[in-house]
Amino acid sequence: MKLTSLLRIWLTRSFRPFIFTNKYLNLLDYENTQQLGLYVHIPFCKSICSFCPYCKVVYDESLARKYKTALVKEINLVGSTQKDKKEATSLYFGGGTPALMADDLDQIIQTLKKYFYINGEIGVELHPNDISESLLAKLKSAGVTMISVGIQSFDEGCLSALGRSRADYDEVFHSIKNACFQTVDMDLIFGIPRQTEKTLLKDIETAFAGGATQISTYPFIDFTFANNNDQPLPARKKKKMLKAIASYCEETERVRTSVWTFAEPKTKKYSSITRDNFLGFGVSATTLLKDQFKINTFSIEGYIHRIESQHLPTSLTLDFSLRQRAVYYLFWSAYSMEISPEKFRDLFGISLNRLFGVEFYICRIMGLVKKEEGNYHLTERGAYYYHYIEQVYTTAYIDKMWNISRNIPFPDQIILK
Ligand code: SF4
Repeated sequence: MKLTSLLRIWLTRSFRPFIFTNKYLNLLDYENTQQLGLYVHIPFCKSICSFCPYCKVVYDESLARKYKTALVKEINLVGSTQKDKKEATSLYFGGGTPALMADDLDQIIQTLKKYFYINGEIGVELHPNDISESLLAKLKSAGVTMISVGIQSFDEGCLSALGRSRADYDEVFHSIKNACFQTVDMDLIFGIPRQTEKTLLKDIETAFAGGATQISTYPFIDFTFANNNDQPLPARKKKKMLKAIASYCEETERVRTSVWTFAEPKTKKYSSITRDNFLGFGVSATTLLKDQFKINTFSIEGYIHRIESQHLPTSLTLDFSLRQRAVYYLFWSAYSMEISPEKFRDLFGISLNRLFGVEFYICRIMGLVKKEEGNYHLTERGAYYYHYIEQVYTTAYIDKMWNISRNIPFPDQIILK
């Protein structure tokens, strides 16, 4: 039996797999949901990088115009069902390359603000080639407070393995420094074919020197539907690299803020993936609520068509059991290296110890977590195992889900075992 299946059966105490079906509701129940994040997906890129698994197409002006209209309608469809304006902890634009719709972001943000008080950061993912002083000024005036730059690597050899070309980094750094965003994240990939520890650590230093307040370092994963020429470095090399990143950041007094992120001290930490609940808008966007997880269609045409007929573009829905939902929550909490039993009780109305006391006892014995001031913290060993298991799940679950969704706009069912 696969590791993913074993863990799922053990942690959920059930043989029931995760079953996503094509049924969907046109009314989302998020009125009483706390800690709600917002996500908007912009699926256009100037060109396609060979390693990239995300939902995107090459930019087409007329399609982008229709997409924007549909996006605004989707927000109105979802937002107008609530009696009162809701608080949202953050808003994040991912892609794709949101900068290709920079002129539309203000309208999208204003539409969201009709229904939500956005009291946290508004972040945008950027490709280095798109960064200029004028673009960043435009984003600032639309209310954006943080940017995440998909650098991936500064090294020519690594970039070419990812199907990318070099950007004008002097211009990128200069623009970023002048724009003074309070949070600047730079994404870097490790485990790229032929990458060495030396080039990786140099990438990290270049990112911080170039104005990053934090770096997010992701292991290179070869998705089955990507067009990589070479395989990622083997797991043991990735393990050494993650260790080297953590040691280097510790020596240079950067703070580990999650399994894969490291920040300058006293800067605001930011993660686009750890939210208790979230609403996602746009193709391939996901929504996580109290007992439901839903995924929008990956087809831009299918998305526009659904919205035009006043229907939500949901392609798949999973109804969680309590334990499944709790496992999902714990998985992403563990990514932030800290799990709060108090917060768990608030969210699920039952103590963490009652549901997962045995698991936490075993994790403590194995040196994967330690308890400090009432909360569980991942140790370095725990962070490594998390890093390993995250990749196993990405390959078993996300790869399968995205691969089917890329080919079938509205699949009947997907079962993840
Ligand atoms: S990595 Fe970024 S720019 Fe490249 S194809 Fe993917 S979303 Fe587009």
